[in-house]
Amino acid sequence: MTQSTPIAVTAIAGDGIGPEVMAATKRILAAGCARIAWEDAEAGAAVFRRGIATGAPRETLDSIARTGIALKGPLETPVGFGEKSANVTLRKYFEMYGNIRPVRELPGIVTPYSGRGIDMVIVRENVEDLYAGIEHMQTNAVAQCLKLISEPGCERIVRLAFGLAVAEGRKSLACATKANIMKMTEGMLKRVFERVAPDFPDIAASHLIIDNCAHQLVIAPEQFDVIVTTNMNGDIISDLAAGLVGGLGVAPSANLGDQVAMFEAVHGSAPQIAGKDLANPTALLLSAVMMLRHVGDFDAAEKIEQAVLVTLEEGRNLTGDIARRGQGVGTGAYTDQVIANLGRQSSRASRHYSRLQVPHWEAATWHHEPATRELAGIDVFLESADSAEAVGAGMLAAVTGSPFRLAGISNRGAQVWPATGGRSFLVDHFRARFLLETPIAGDGAAEIADLLGRLGGWRWMHLEKLQRFDGVDGFAKGQGES
Ligand code: NAP
Repeated sequence: MTQSTPIAVTAIAGDGIGPEVMAATKRILAAGCARIAWEDAEAGAAVFRRGIATGAPRETLDSIARTGIALKGPLETPVGFGEKSANVTLRKYFEMYGNIRPVRELPGIVTPYSGRGIDMVIVRENVEDLYAGIEHMQTNAVAQCLKLISEPGCERIVRLAFGLAVAEGRKSLACATKANIMKMTEGMLKRVFERVAPDFPDIAASHLIIDNCAHQLVIAPEQFDVIVTTNMNGDIISDLAAGLVGGLGVAPSANLGDQVAMFEAVHGSAPQIAGKDLANPTALLLSAVMMLRHVGDFDAAEKIEQAVLVTLEEGRNLTGDIARRGQGVGTGAYTDQVIANLGRQSSRASRHYSRLQVPHWEAATWHHEPATRELAGIDVFLESADSAEAVGAGMLAAVTGSPFRLAGISNRGAQVWPATGGRSFLVDHFRARFLLETPIAGDGAAEIADLLGRLGGWRWMHLEKLQRFDGVDGFAKGQGES
């Protein structure tokens, strides 16, 4: 299907080589009959220099909100101008929760994996996990980063991944987590995946541990069709997988939310080669091909993708980074070559794509109130340079006569009181776990206030309620705790 009315798209050329690869991409899209009404907008280094700390001015946000689709060049985060990455700002502002990274062997790009038929898509959760950026120094020497994973966040990324598998006619979806260690956070993605999988009976669903996934990606990458994973895991394995097929320079990506989709090359602004007619526009161009499929212009997408594949297959007039025998041409000449190849068919069979529906959740439905909620205890995180025995004795004395009992003390997760005989290295950060003999209904505010009052001169910096939801413990057992 070819688009009859032009689709409005916000174009952010970006920094460094961004303007060159954007100009090349726009030229090829126009020659390939993609009907697009571009709205040019600004973000990145120049915006930071004007003192806009987000790197994305209001007009740019308004343009993306209006068009719902953006094609974006790389953005620098200049040190000393702004503290937040403009890329992260855009992803978070528009809640683009799904990062889609196709990883496919490209003709003429020779790697140790050439000929193995690698053709997969990595679907990475894009806004939660450790990347929520909630960090605190707990003591002067111990830092903490909160890993936040939500059930609706898992459900929408899992449904997006299954939806993508269906839209691309793929056969299997693997969920990769570290659920064996982080049973609540990483385990949530696994549980949601297993709950949702029966809704997609035509897609073979499986789970594997993320470290095994990394291993399998290196040993037998051709086994994967679609992989869904949490933010940090996805960050790492998607770069690893890009490396299998020629590196970041040719890797496209999409950031999808239910209102906005933004397409961008994976590479950065490559400032060393900026303005020299050396940049390879393939990654942004393939990102634009993803964009065309997203808006339903499958004909233009196919025509442009085939022209790129023919160009790579024939190996004539390639940019220096991918040219064989080092005989590279400039961005402009490569662009001309792709345009000359429009209408030609590569030797590679085309995949049948259909339109991907991005799952939508109303914010109001996201709260799930349990039927019962009880307080089972409290974890108190303390700063102390004392020995484990001294901290244990202090905590025991503090709770004598209170409804709490001291269940144990750990140091970076390893039990140090009661002593186990283990040889833990101690830092000045202890967790004392206090349990109530009988869990109490409600939030236990009075009991907690009483306990904190008893801690007197002990320096605590963090409290965590140990809650039971519908009779199930909402906290991990400490190491060595029964
Ligand atoms: P980079 O810009 O990707 O560049 C690393 C090297 O890769 C370049 O020096 C160049 O190698 C090669 N390269 C990358 N893209 C290329 C292309 N299209 N054509 C030809 N060669 C290409 O990575 P970086 O140097 O780490 O990052 C530079 C800036 O980009 C930083 O400010 C970073 O924050 C930003 N960045 C932005 C994004 C984004 O907006 N999504 C992503 C990553 C990085 P040679 O020098 O060997 O030619």
